[in-house]
This record gives sequence, C-alpha cells and structure tokens, in this order.
Amino acid sequence: MGMLDNMQQRWQEGSQKILALQAVASSRAGLITALSKTLRLLLQSLILGLGAYLSIRQEISPGSMIAGSILLGRALAPIDLMIGSWKGFILARAQYARLESLLKLVPEDKQKMALPEPKGALQADQVVLIPPGSKTPVIKGVSFSIAAGDSVGIIGPSGAGKSSLLRGLLGIWPSTNGKMRLDGADIFEWDRMELGPFIGYLPQDIELFDGSISENIARFGELDATKVVEAAQMADVHELILRLPEGYDTVIGASGGNLSGGQRQRIGLARALYGNPKVVVLDEPNSNLDDQGEVALASAIKRLKERQVTVLIVTHRHSILGQLDNLLILKDGLLALYGPREQVLAQLQQASLPVVTQ
Ligand code: ADP
Repeated sequence: MGMLDNMQQRWQEGSQKILALQAVASSRAGLITALSKTLRLLLQSLILGLGAYLSIRQEISPGSMIAGSILLGRALAPIDLMIGSWKGFILARAQYARLESLLKLVPEDKQKMALPEPKGALQADQVVLIPPGSKTPVIKGVSFSIAAGDSVGIIGPSGAGKSSLLRGLLGIWPSTNGKMRLDGADIFEWDRMELGPFIGYLPQDIELFDGSISENIARFGELDATKVVEAAQMADVHELILRLPEGYDTVIGASGGNLSGGQRQRIGLARALYGNPKVVVLDEPNSNLDDQGEVALASAIKRLKERQVTVLIVTHRHSILGQLDNLLILKDGLLALYGPREQVLAQLQQASLPVVTQ
C-alpha cells in the first residue's frame, strides 16, 4: 500500500535513537570501568608505598608489605566483580519483577476434585467480565441459560463483547462478578486438563501451532488416526489435507505455513470437533470460508446437533443461523435479546436492527 518508505523511515528513526542511547550507555560504562580501575590501582600503589615506607622505617617486615598488597587486591576483587556484573544483575531484577506481575495476573491452578463427564448445560449468572490487564468491563452483567444439546447463535455489532463472552463461558477469562456454570458447577471448579477433551473451541484468530496437521487436529495428544480423520471429514478438510505433499504429516508453523485462511480455519474446526466434545464454541467460523466450506460447516453443525452437543456460534450469516435453535443478541456488553430463533428474528425485524447478513 505504498507504506514501505514511511515504514523504513520510521524504523531508521527508531534505530538512530537506539544507537545514540547505546553510545551514551557505552561511554558511561567505559568511564565507570576506567574510574574503578584507576581507583584500584591507586589504592594498590598507595598500600605498597605505605608498606615500603613502614618497612624502610623497620616498623614492619618486607614480607608484611607484600602480604598487605596481596590482601588489598583480594579485598577489592569482589567490588570489581560487582561493577562488571551490574548489568546482568539489573536485567535479572527486571525479569524477576516481570515474572512476578505475570504470575499475579494468572493465578496458579488449584488441585480440583474430578467431576463427572459434562453433559453440556451452560449458565451465566449476572456475569461481569473484565479482560485480564484491563479495567473496563466488556460484559456488564449478563444472565442466560443454555440447555445441554441446544444450539445458540450469538450476534451483535463489532465490539459488543461476543468473543469476550465466549472466553468467559469457557473459563479462559475469570468473571469479575457472577458465575459461569457448566452442568451447574462453576466453570473454575473443573480441572482444565480433564475438561479440555469435552470442549471444542475455534477462536477467531484460529491459533494453529508448530507441528504436523494431524498433531494440530489431535490437540498434540496421543495420535488416534481414526479420530483425526473423522474430525477432518466432519470439517470437510480430509480431501484437502490428502492433496498436500505430505498429507496429514505436513508440518505447519504457528502462522499456518502455506495454508490459506480458509484451510487454516477448517483445520481449526477439525481440531474443535476432534474426539467427543460436549460443548463446541465457534467464533466466526465462516469468516474465511468459501461456499464449499460453509456447506461443510452447516453439515458439521447438523451432526453435532444430532449428537446432542451444545453448540455456540458467533456468526452473522443467515445460512448458519437458520440451523440454530436459539439466538442471543449482545449489545454493548449487555444481553439485548435471547430466545428461540424465529421469535428473536421477528423482534429484530420489528426493531429493524441490521445484524444478520445473507
Ligand atoms: P466482538 O467479538 O463482539 O467484536 P470483543 O469481545 O472482541 O467484541 O471485544 C469487546 C470489547 O472488549 C472491545 O471493546 C475490545 O476492545 C475489548 N477487548 C477485547 N479483548 C480485549 C483484551 N484482551 N484486552 C482488553 N480489551 C479487550
């Protein structure tokens, strides 16, 4: 977009600033080192001179003079060492402080009692969510319940808090107030590792990891080829993977390697469907999908519903919304409408809110 020159200039300005600061820093460091060396040499010479003077006056022996000089050298060595390693000390202190604040932000998981396999009923109880590190609530007290096996479309304008609500529902963000419940238990009562296999989540930015496609789909756990292929077929990505030079063993980087946005999204969808999830949460799963991808998504949702899986989808597409039982409309972090699809759509039409696209 013709930004190259401007970006280059910006980079150069930044790098000039760093160079200037670095020059100042290194000249100061040089000055301090030279000063400390001079002082040490001066002290050593003085002590040697004093020793010589005292031994000429025969107040001490020449041996004591040498011993005095050696002792002083030893006594000054730690100070020299401290000056030399000061930079490392400052860095270590800053890194310790950073780790401390990070660990405070993400508290340690406590050992939790194992709970029975979830059925997938979700409930929000006056939930307020504040993103970690932020101070402003993005979900400002919402309550609703979703029965196990229900499918819900979440719609609302950009910035309404749809993705944030999903993160709260899945227990990724702790609620500041109120509770998110799964099968009646606070979502934080569940052990994350035990709950994980029952949850399928496709975040908006997909987040594939460094590894093969099969490892990504199998969530880096033990590889069960049948389950991997089943999930890939459900996301209609099986044939596409087979066409890649190394098929399921194709290694993709964190950025998705040579895959297109739509391909990454479908692999992310396969990962969400892998195994036997009881709750599947898809955040704009069709933002990059072509018509064929969308048909695959629709059939995946149909199969999930047949399996009595609770499905939550953030989407504005009518083709997907048409399959869902309920709609939840969010506006400014508040629940505007929630109920059976037809009823909510009728109310939307009455209020002429343009949130659904064809
Ligand atoms: P939607 O999915 O409806 O577009 P989001 O849930 O992504 O909305 O965002 C809702 C609000 O929360 C926005 O104002 C956004 O700036 C804020 N927000 C989202 N994620 C973060 C975060 N990690 N830190 C701080 N604020 C956030």
